[in-house]
Amino acid sequence: MFGEYNSPMGASAATDLYGFLHVDLNSFFASVEQQLHPEYRNKPTGVVPTIADTTSLIAASYEAKALGIKTGTRVLDARRICPEIILVHGNHATYAEYSHRIAAAVERVCPVAHTPSIDEMVCQLLGRERGPARARQIALEVKQAIREDVGETLRCSIGLAPNRYLAKIASDMQKPDGLVGLLPGGLPGSIAHLELRDLPGVGARTELRLNAKGIRTMPELLALDRNAMHRLFNSVWGDRVYHWLRGNDTGDDGAPIPSAVQKSLGHSHVLAPEHRTPEGAWAVAHKLLHKAAMRLRMEKFFSGSLALTVKYALSASQAANLAGSRLGGERVKKHLSGLMETGWGMEARFRPCQDTLSLLEALQGCWKQAPADGKHAKPFFVGITLRNLIPESEMQGSLFAEPGNRRELSATMDKLNLKYGHTTLHFAGMLPARDSAPTRIAFTQIPVQYGHEYM
Ligand SMILES: [Mg+2]
Repeated sequence: MFGEYNSPMGASAATDLYGFLHVDLNSFFASVEQQLHPEYRNKPTGVVPTIADTTSLIAASYEAKALGIKTGTRVLDARRICPEIILVHGNHATYAEYSHRIAAAVERVCPVAHTPSIDEMVCQLLGRERGPARARQIALEVKQAIREDVGETLRCSIGLAPNRYLAKIASDMQKPDGLVGLLPGGLPGSIAHLELRDLPGVGARTELRLNAKGIRTMPELLALDRNAMHRLFNSVWGDRVYHWLRGNDTGDDGAPIPSAVQKSLGHSHVLAPEHRTPEGAWAVAHKLLHKAAMRLRMEKFFSGSLALTVKYALSASQAANLAGSRLGGERVKKHLSGLMETGWGMEARFRPCQDTLSLLEALQGCWKQAPADGKHAKPFFVGITLRNLIPESEMQGSLFAEPGNRRELSATMDKLNLKYGHTTLHFAGMLPARDSAPTRIAFTQIPVQYGHEYM
């Protein structure tokens, strides 16, 4: 049951590639309960936070959904619709453990780049993985790995698309056990039949706001040009959605998170083979920080935490040695390309800020801690995530007053970069200034286990 939406004329091989694979577990909590309790299988099952008539379901099995019972349905109503419904007291620790086991199963097939929620995993496809046939094969292998490693009741819907935003949309287009691909050549026509509410970030309130501005259907939304989209959403979010819906890569992976509920903001990059040196990786980290800091300000946030992840390619003998020793808890993974990798990550926490210099100090502080032995000599992936985001409007005046010239410098930089393009003004010229400025933020560094949480 694979739906692949490409152009009516057939795929143009040069451009019709996927970039991301989005895994979304179907009725996750209820499926875990059915896995743990075979007697619940094939029966309407609901998961509740407490056993009480006044509470609402936090998950419903597919058998319950077929009867019209869903997440949010009150227990009273669920029992009226289906008196024999099985109600289970939910256990978050169990679901978190299953989430980890599922991520590990997915990793067996393809590295997980992001975990947007407890029942979602995103993989970035690289090189030949991006071809439609190979991508589809990977998706089928992911489904099989979850069934084999975790359990037969754990089904998922998988979306394939050129960016993360569309991959999430595609994962929602067929349930349960779906597999839908949105190829660039077929866009945006292949999503024109959706409802506005099917777009990540468009909730009830946003939908009303769009309706009030005369936009009620996807074709109406898709008819708008980029400027009109900016005005419609009154922010850069509109520009981003404009590009994502057309399959473009906006350089931020198309993270499907509206700024209003955004918890983190990040950029990552796979290094070209000639840049896989510590110096090359630092240059990339630098550039990623610059982009992330600018986006932080454009979306009007302060950040109180920076997470850095670096992945390193290993030689076959290094991989064998590392896999053999459990010391240091290092994990070795095999990429589909055959590349063996290990990784390292660190999170710095500091007083919330939004200026590039302060964030750069945090990055430098992390970077200094990076291991520099033979196993960590060939970095091939760098990721930076700003977390603990606080809306600018919630920050108090005292903070604004503090590192005044740093904020001004950043604001000037944004203006120039917006006007003349992303890379106009770079850090190089700012580094001497940084050396003369005292360190204003104290931060603590917390080593983080590789492969979890913040990517
Ligand atoms: Mg789900």
